[in-house]
Amino acid sequence: MSEWRDAKNRQALARLNRALPEIFPAPVLTHALARSFIPPMPRLAIDSYWRAHPVRADRLARVLAAQSGAPDGWVWRLGAAKPDGLPPTFRAPPAPYREKRFARGRGACCVCGQPVYRFGWHCDLWGEGPNKQAMWHTACVVAWQLWSAPSHYARPLRRFQKHKCAETGKRLMRAAEVDHRVPLFQVWREQRDTSWPQLLRYWGVPNLRVINRAAHVAKSAEEAGLRALGKAAAASDFTSP
Ligand SMILES: [Zn+2]
Repeated sequence: MSEWRDAKNRQALARLNRALPEIFPAPVLTHALARSFIPPMPRLAIDSYWRAHPVRADRLARVLAAQSGAPDGWVWRLGAAKPDGLPPTFRAPPAPYREKRFARGRGACCVCGQPVYRFGWHCDLWGEGPNKQAMWHTACVVAWQLWSAPSHYARPLRRFQKHKCAETGKRLMRAAEVDHRVPLFQVWREQRDTSWPQLLRYWGVPNLRVINRAAHVAKSAEEAGLRALGKAAAASDFTSP
């Protein structure tokens, strides 16, 4: 097995070295060479780097989004009509540049609105200008996946919390679950006017935590009670304005 892997890695390294441009982000290369299977292409090396660092990807995506700011006239709205690009529920992260009306077109990232360069990188290390084919930063792809399905990122989030339950401080059990500190229904109901991209903090690591199941069940029951109370008071809050 290890001989086979060594042979594969020699081949992959040779391919990577051939394809590698003179300038390449050093941490990405270090990460690639330390993988048990070396990514054979620069693009795959960058992808592998961000997948291994979702917490960093989340932070970067929000920093880039802050450079763009929200487009004039944008408000967080929901909509079932796909052609508009509006998110169907309050669970989806608000993303103005994914909406048809505000999209910046090819060469700009649909998550943060900033230019996308070679290999989906976020700075123009090569002085070539934006990559006119690209519509996502590689970091923003990972951030978007984390925001949309945080439970898939339980492992790095557990590591980020040093394996302690965010609710009780006890060691995280195997069945621990990822939870939003401020539930997203409450964000839609009470924080809807927060400016973008500050809103994204509610989907990102600042609002995510891993807690033991028992603590999670208790919190979910409390939220269900809150929701039922709120529903009676403001039934229209969950529908699109
Ligand atoms: Zn981006």
